[in-house]
Amino acid sequence: MNLFTESNLSPDILKAIGELGYESPTEIQKQTIPFILSDIRDLIALAQTGTGKTAAFSLPILDMIDDTSRKIQLLVLCPTRELCLQISKDIKNYSKYMKDIKTTAVYGGSSIMDQIRSLKDKPQIIVGTPGRVIDLINRKALDFSAIHWLVLDEADEMLSMGFKDELETILSETPDTKQTFLFSATMNKEVERISKNYLTNPHRISVGSINEVKKNIKHEYYVVGYRQKKEALKRLIDANPNQYSILFCRTRMETQEVADFLMQNGYAADALHGDLSQAQRDTVMKKFRLKNIDILVATDVAARGLDVNSLTHVIHYSLPDDPEVFVHRSGRTGRAGKDGVSMALIKPEESRKLKQIKSATKIEIVEKTIPTGNDIIKAQVGGVFEKLFTEHEEDIFEFDDSLIPDLSAFTKEELVHKLLQFQLKDLALYYKDKHDLVEQKLSSRDDDYSRRDRGRDRDRDRGRDRDRDSRSRDGRDRGGKPRRKDENMVRFFFNLGKKDQLKKLDVLDIINKATAGKSKKRAEIGDIEILEKFSFFEVEKSFQENVMSNIPSMKFRGKEMRAEVAN
Ligand code: AMP
Repeated sequence: MNLFTESNLSPDILKAIGELGYESPTEIQKQTIPFILSDIRDLIALAQTGTGKTAAFSLPILDMIDDTSRKIQLLVLCPTRELCLQISKDIKNYSKYMKDIKTTAVYGGSSIMDQIRSLKDKPQIIVGTPGRVIDLINRKALDFSAIHWLVLDEADEMLSMGFKDELETILSETPDTKQTFLFSATMNKEVERISKNYLTNPHRISVGSINEVKKNIKHEYYVVGYRQKKEALKRLIDANPNQYSILFCRTRMETQEVADFLMQNGYAADALHGDLSQAQRDTVMKKFRLKNIDILVATDVAARGLDVNSLTHVIHYSLPDDPEVFVHRSGRTGRAGKDGVSMALIKPEESRKLKQIKSATKIEIVEKTIPTGNDIIKAQVGGVFEKLFTEHEEDIFEFDDSLIPDLSAFTKEELVHKLLQFQLKDLALYYKDKHDLVEQKLSSRDDDYSRRDRGRDRDRDRGRDRDRDSRSRDGRDRGGKPRRKDENMVRFFFNLGKKDQLKKLDVLDIINKATAGKSKKRAEIGDIEILEKFSFFEVEKSFQENVMSNIPSMKFRGKEMRAEVAN
């Protein structure tokens, strides 16, 4: 089957996918569609996101589903709400011309009562996250007695997110006669165990596996010390203008830290991680899809299910432990026939980790040096022209040529030069007196990572907050050195922190309110440091009393506030 029109799929389905622009099936579709249409065995498919999995299982099922029955026939389980919405949207698109087929998505973080109401429509297809499906089973809102097909999508991810018990319960609640299709990007012990216990004599297929790394992605790495990482990141972003990228971090805290850094430096960036509420995550994703932000800083888990095809770059701010995650992250770019670039920031001690990734994935990752100020300005000039000649914006304002003054005193080149100088002034000023970053080399001692860095990464991931909190309390900076004191400023301990959703802007607002007096003079505000459970801020000494007396009478998100002079 080289074209969908050569398949046996019904005209209603062919019409719908034709409108979506699908002409020929992807590799996984070539293998699964004929199998599902003709075989009654279970199936294990090793396939990564972006391979066309959803159509691979849903098109043949839609072809066979009984539209005269109003019982649930297909249940798709997937790890996240985003993926759940994506899959149900895809299935609704594929069944656009099947007027009696209904699909409902059920997932956590949204009103269960609304979902119970939508189940009254009697959908034949349910797409759900395991936790919410169990809740609905317990409320007797789902009847699985007529299930014919059960799809476990991203099974490895569901297991690693701790849905093992839920999956087992659902698998045992559904009829033995069903056909089960398990899709997974990786085949680990847990996935094998689930397959062994709940699938019967499964047929196995594998596409887009780790060895099939996309050829149209250029992989680069940059060696940079921990202290210079953020400055190096800024340079990489500046040296790649007009980018639309995802930047991967290892932990939620690192994600927020990096996003805050970028936002404070004027980039259109935002964070996506599990500490945000569902509504906040939805807003960030919407902004990213609409390109209101062009750098999304995310954890691996949070970025799952975000289906964006036009990423120009993927940045590994921190390397993942698992080489497959590296492939998975990088594969977010270079989609839909476009080229992509994957850039990894690597600490000198991470040579072993890099070697592991290179040998497990067979990817050629090329070492590059952090761009100099000069490189950046050159790239930016190129970026201006690229934008000028590739973007066809509508006329957004009436422009009368008579408004242009007489420019005959300048040559064409002089004018272009002046306009570029004007456009890139801030950036050029920033890099004018900046030294290039000191070149770093990978450490020759291979075991460095395992001993020192791993311990440090673990500390940073798990207990860093505690560590930092206690260090900060005694007035020391991250390196343990005593903090430099500014005699005009007072440092306050503040009882709210990240866990209360406190952001720097909130602290600024609180201080401004607490210090606003009759006189127009505004308090000078110094360093603000927001930690997990509490924070510190510096305010001009003459406003110490205002802070002490006004903050206790104010509230932040309903919480009492307290500020004390830090010792
Ligand atoms: P998935 O792996 O299901 O998330 O699909 C990845 C992307 O490929 C989605 O945007 C699909 O709409 C698209 N897609 C799936 N199958 C095809 C196809 N045969 N031709 C073109 N695009 C497809």
